[in-house]
Amino acid sequence: MYRSELTVDLAALRRNVATLLRALAGSELWAVVKANAYGHGAADVAGAALGAGATALCVATVPEALALRREFPTARIVVMGPAGSREVALARDARLELVVSGDEVPAGVRVHLKLDTGMGRWGLSELTAPSVEVVGLMSHLATADSDAGYAEWQIERFRSATAPYSHLTRHIANSAGALRYATARFDAARCGIAMYGLSPFGTDPAEDGLEPVLSWTSHLAQVKLLPTGHSTGYGRRYVAEQDTWIGIVPVGYADGFRRDLTGTQVRVGGELRRVVGTISMDAFAVELDRELPVGTPVVLVGRGVLAEEHARVAGTITYELATGINSDPARARRVVVS
Ligand SMILES: *Cc1c(COP(=O)(O)O)cnc(C)c1O
Repeated sequence: MYRSELTVDLAALRRNVATLLRALAGSELWAVVKANAYGHGAADVAGAALGAGATALCVATVPEALALRREFPTARIVVMGPAGSREVALARDARLELVVSGDEVPAGVRVHLKLDTGMGRWGLSELTAPSVEVVGLMSHLATADSDAGYAEWQIERFRSATAPYSHLTRHIANSAGALRYATARFDAARCGIAMYGLSPFGTDPAEDGLEPVLSWTSHLAQVKLLPTGHSTGYGRRYVAEQDTWIGIVPVGYADGFRRDLTGTQVRVGGELRRVVGTISMDAFAVELDRELPVGTPVVLVGRGVLAEEHARVAGTITYELATGINSDPARARRVVVS
């Protein structure tokens, strides 16, 4: 039996793409599949997203793009992170598009100039007349999920700075921008997290009509009665106040079930149960209300167990949880349903 199983539901992904396309009302959707599609599998997600109407793929690095190029010979692929000089030659040969955040525009490769309109990270502070290589102008929102005033100010700065070049493809929106700001649509939106059915706002994704694409399941590998005063796990952080049934799930932080998820809830045989004690590298414990058989299914993510809720408990965001899940076949079985 596998320790855990990761299921990627490409039908849900296609429905999320359709939801985003409706929100974008005519602007293009570019599928952000960096970091192995936020842990969901870059090639599977890219194929499904393109099939559902996305018109380009966005990644962070040239090697990520080259791997996709082998699978998708004709797709438009945009590398959003910086490329070194040796990578520029590879990008040219592979017909990739690069994002340029400095003054030097490489020759012979299609580029998008990135303006820093207030993210304070990559990007040009000022835009001068773009050269022939430039096909797009872009920027990135710092607060589309939190501070509307600042986001609108960034969008306006982008609009006025790029107005003279409206013949180029202009794009600024991420998922939160695409879902919340009609003014951020321009020609295309670069959407990642929402495509995966995770909320960019940390709320229930259903509120935005999104469905989680990934589910993660395991089982009780051992069930035992912890007598009063006995503990489970490193550091004795959980001590039974009364005789308590606990189940051991063979998933730990090396699988991406983070150490700071103590206290979150998972679904054990259909009921929500609390994760107790210190999460170890390969296992964690859940508190049960009665003895349950070994093999009882445990849902870690999916079927009503929201990654957003885990993120809240761990004090992080779903982006970090999703990209941290380990889909190495030595640890988990990965299943793709279409
Ligand atoms: C990762 C990334 C995105 C996607 O953001 P989401 O919030 O996942 O939609 C868009 N643009 C850039 C530049 C990015 O790095």
